[in-house]
Amino acid sequence: MPSELAPRRRKAPANGWQLIAQGQIDRAFRQGKRNFAAAQAAGEVTGMATGLMQVAWCCALLGHPEQGLECALAAKRLWRRAGNEAGVASTAAIEAFLLFELGLSDEGSEAAEQAVTIAARLADFSVLAFASCMRAIALALCGHAELSIPVIRESIRIAEQNGDKASLCFYQLNMGFCLGRLAAGEEAAGKDGHARDLLGRAIEVSEDAIASATESGNNWCLRVALGNVAEMYAHCGDLERAQKRLETWQEVPGRPGVSLKIHYLYTHSMVLMQLGQLPDAAKAASEALRLANRSAQTDHQLNAAGKLAEVHEAMKDFRSALAMHKRFHKLYVKQAGETTQRRAKVAEIRLETDRLRARADELANQAMRDGLTGIANRRAFDAELAQLDGQVFAVAMLDLDHFKAINDRFSHMVGDEVLRRLARGLTAHSGAWAARLGGEEFALLLTGEEAVRGAERLCERVRAGVEGLQWTELAPDLKVTVSIGLAIGDGGKAAADLMAVADRRLYAAKAAGRNRVVANDEAAVMELPRSARSRRGA
Ligand code: GH3
Ligand code: MG
Ligand code: MG
Repeated sequence: MPSELAPRRRKAPANGWQLIAQGQIDRAFRQGKRNFAAAQAAGEVTGMATGLMQVAWCCALLGHPEQGLECALAAKRLWRRAGNEAGVASTAAIEAFLLFELGLSDEGSEAAEQAVTIAARLADFSVLAFASCMRAIALALCGHAELSIPVIRESIRIAEQNGDKASLCFYQLNMGFCLGRLAAGEEAAGKDGHARDLLGRAIEVSEDAIASATESGNNWCLRVALGNVAEMYAHCGDLERAQKRLETWQEVPGRPGVSLKIHYLYTHSMVLMQLGQLPDAAKAASEALRLANRSAQTDHQLNAAGKLAEVHEAMKDFRSALAMHKRFHKLYVKQAGETTQRRAKVAEIRLETDRLRARADELANQAMRDGLTGIANRRAFDAELAQLDGQVFAVAMLDLDHFKAINDRFSHMVGDEVLRRLARGLTAHSGAWAARLGGEEFALLLTGEEAVRGAERLCERVRAGVEGLQWTELAPDLKVTVSIGLAIGDGGKAAADLMAVADRRLYAAKAAGRNRVVANDEAAVMELPRSARSRRGA
């Protein structure tokens, strides 16, 4: 289980995955929600994803697959945003399990494949083991139990190699499930001998799961494995062992979730029936049905009603048996309808998730782009600049000369096109990072020692390039020039202060007659007309 698989677990502020490994799912669920809320308040994406993933897995274990699925899809989106692929893979594996719980094996298969592919690419073996386990379950559910065995054997091998008992018991448990499925298939095909062998192997590995779960204190796995193995023993007619395992189930500390309790009750009912203790069997099955009704889980209601019908029949209470068979039939139809509805709901959730993601990306993109030219805007520039604080970098402020006159003489449309062309040229050819700060003002950022050393030459090239462009294509007689102020920081100056220097030099370039680059303050002073020099106190 992800308890030992998700690498983030070790970084998580609280021991949620340990709680899960100990079978304290309710507590882990509440804690996951709290962690999510705290991370959300702090705007901390990884923490949010971890919290949601924990909640999703708890939902899977507690039998709330729909809620779990929404959390898993949201967590996946956050992991993507954080660029954490291992997180995406772990969450996709949880998503697969939830889809199985919803009766959507095909969709679950897809999610499991996605998880396996990513984990294999990352060569993250513990995530791969967890994802492969989900893939094996998918194969078993889709009628390829024989193919599931080598897949899940690999998960077991990885967990053994890592000495990871908490995960190992989960894989062994599911190996037992896959072998049990295979046995049932063989039995249905009339191959009784082979079916018995397989069931024997299923029991063996489930007993291993019990041992590993006991050793690692994973009470959730322990309960599931005990219930499963009791069911298998009962199926083989070994009622004494079946009863023993159910007694052990009762002794497992902590409160079982409703799903586990129902599973226990109808397994118990099955054993009691075979022992001929029919009234007790009826009592256990009725209790299972009562709990299933209360939790409104059709699958459980269906299983419990089927079991109760059998017990009534064995008691020769045919009237009650008939009523229960009818109930079973109704539930069966209801379950089929629900599966269809769930499929539609899942498609809807996925669609909504994709739509939200696309919209969020679009908004984020829009917020950072300039509408007219499509290049980075002032907001993006400020964000970029903030990252450069304390680094060696150069900033150039660039302003079109007499742009107002261009608008006036050639029209605003031509003016717009000049801005677009200049923006395109700056991003494509300058080799610097370019942004439009507003109006007819642009900025260039240069990082890296070599680029910074060549900054003045680059600015001169940009200036000459603009002047030399064939603007007459746009309008006859159109001439465009730019003035540039350049400032180079050695890392000692705040980025905002460097901007002020560049701005001052741009002003000097304008004052000195435009269409030039000013890259230092002596030059700036020299370029200023006398009146301006004295005004500035130079
Ligand atoms: P200087 O050489 O001193 O910079 O002179 P200037 O005319 O370029 O500067 P001024 O600040 O006087 O005028 C800037 C002009 O830029 C005025 C405004 O109409 C124009 N402008 C600002 N944004 C846009 C735009 O998006 N499209 C167009 N076509 N013009 C714009
Ligand atoms: Mg201007
Ligand atoms: Mg201007």
